[in-house]
Amino acid sequence: MKRCPGCAGCRHYRLGDGRLKCRACGLRFTWTSVWDSVRLPTATKARLLELFVLGVPSYRQRFLSDTSAVSRERFYRLVRGCCALVEQLREPFEGAIECDETTFGGARKGKRGWGAAGKVIVFGLVKRNGCVKAMPIPAHDRASIMREIEAHTREGALYYTDEWQAYATLKLRGEHVMIRKEKGRPAGRDHINGIEGFWSYAKNWLYMYRGVPRQYFHLYLAEVCYRFNHRHENLQPLLYKLLKQISIQELRPILVRKG
Ligand SMILES: [Zn+2]
Repeated sequence: MKRCPGCAGCRHYRLGDGRLKCRACGLRFTWTSVWDSVRLPTATKARLLELFVLGVPSYRQRFLSDTSAVSRERFYRLVRGCCALVEQLREPFEGAIECDETTFGGARKGKRGWGAAGKVIVFGLVKRNGCVKAMPIPAHDRASIMREIEAHTREGALYYTDEWQAYATLKLRGEHVMIRKEKGRPAGRDHINGIEGFWSYAKNWLYMYRGVPRQYFHLYLAEVCYRFNHRHENLQPLLYKLLKQISIQELRPILVRKG
């Protein structure tokens, strides 16, 4: 959908210079799909996308591709950016939701990847038998977690969490079930296996990519969420459609995250 960046309207005129003019507010703007913004032959882009879907990291493609590492990384960053954009727009969760936090990285010594900058704290939500949302948070505290819960869940939901203090005020927002663990195993029938399954899924994917630069970590995490949420579908046509539907102009702000 070619939306106006000023008023989000979708009706427009095409101007002689290739730009578009919004019918509602008159703004003139450029609209280039992410796919078209990448100046590689179509067949090359299709091949890169195919390898991405299969989970072949850029460095493993160094002998079979005619592209440079820089252009592969850039293309994949854009694909991940599209995942991040649609995952961000995913409706807030309602009903039974599992919440949990974990850390990524931090084990690797030296100057590569996220290990260099220490651990990244990630907060995640899983709908029972459903989709996942996960996002990096600035600190392991109540304020950071409640901000995400307010943004990504609807009031009146049923929250399953571990026994951490930070979740204590959840009962004001909905129902709250704390899972007590005895020797690492949940006691009784309640559990947060869904989110824990996602953490191991995410860690497996990200392990393969080796050092993930910290400023792009949110994109890799979004990629994993997107893969998980579409795990029963063929990603190739889905991602191709996204790359054609999203414009490079609307994607840019999401690509780099400071801090
Ligand atoms: Zn407009």
